[in-house]
Amino acid sequence: MNLIKTSRQVKALGLCSGGLDSILSALLLKDQGIDVTWISFETPFFDAKAAKKASKQTGIPLIVKDITDDYMEMMKAPKAGFGKNMNPCMDCHTLMFAKAGAMMEEIGADFLFSGEVVGQRPKSQTKNSLRYVEKHCGFDGLILRPLSAGLLPETIVEQKGLVDRSRLLSISGRSRKPQAALAQKYGITEYPSPAGGCLLTDKGYSQRLRDLLYIQKTEDKTQLHLLKHGRHFRLDNKAKLVVGRNQAENKRIMNLYDPKTHIRLRCTHLPGPDALVFGQIDETTLHLAATITSGYTKASAGALTTISVFQDLETRQIEVTTPEPGAFHDLLIQTP
Ligand code: SF4
Repeated sequence: MNLIKTSRQVKALGLCSGGLDSILSALLLKDQGIDVTWISFETPFFDAKAAKKASKQTGIPLIVKDITDDYMEMMKAPKAGFGKNMNPCMDCHTLMFAKAGAMMEEIGADFLFSGEVVGQRPKSQTKNSLRYVEKHCGFDGLILRPLSAGLLPETIVEQKGLVDRSRLLSISGRSRKPQAALAQKYGITEYPSPAGGCLLTDKGYSQRLRDLLYIQKTEDKTQLHLLKHGRHFRLDNKAKLVVGRNQAENKRIMNLYDPKTHIRLRCTHLPGPDALVFGQIDETTLHLAATITSGYTKASAGALTTISVFQDLETRQIEVTTPEPGAFHDLLIQTP
């Protein structure tokens, strides 16, 4: 066994998703006496909730950073492209390691690490894609993957003796058995499932995101958050409508309501959804939005319905004919 060749405490900064692999990679390093801190990033597409939970569970300190602006810049043209949906996984990891690397000096860390496992994800965790991230993030040689280190070339971190390579693992592939056994050893019983947590891998969300970025041509943060809730209708190239599907969604939509940029629609005399219109809106578009909204109230098809329009701090009513159910299905942005 190699001994760690330094008299001072070695410190490592790890990317944390909150999943089991993140937790195990950090605990493996802690076993070697390494002082471990986590960093987790937030954007409208993913958050640090699971990482916060993992930090609470393990006592490992966590830094949380919002990287939305830089992320949206990267999303314009990810060098390695997108995955099956709008997930630019390789450039996403590159950006995360670049951001984490920039913090190393600030917190006195010697190297970076993550819970990535070779071959666990078909595209983003192959040896080549792990290498792509190292080469492009600006911290080549300083990224350790403790769970798969034995299968990867020796890093500068190991060469310098900051970490004992012989105590790192050689896990590969999609089986979770080795991780489950390790979790048992460490007494970790609660952890989120390995997949999930990133909206960019979701087909429906990706369709709505493409529409927002390439047709509406905006990266506005509130609109990005709105993509998570409700039915989305493309009214024309410059205007869209979001309609809540139930009470909980109405509430979430209204939490994102900004009277400066949204026109709010609601049927005030019958139960129905909250709806927001935004973009460049003329009377014809507004009438269309109100008609669609009336289709989700308790009004019968063909009945006249009054929709309240909240615009520029004023309220007025417009009357529309309630459409047949599904009449505007072709305007829905998300196709099944
Ligand atoms: S799944 Fe989402 S958060 Fe994870 S690497 Fe891909 S784009 Fe980034």
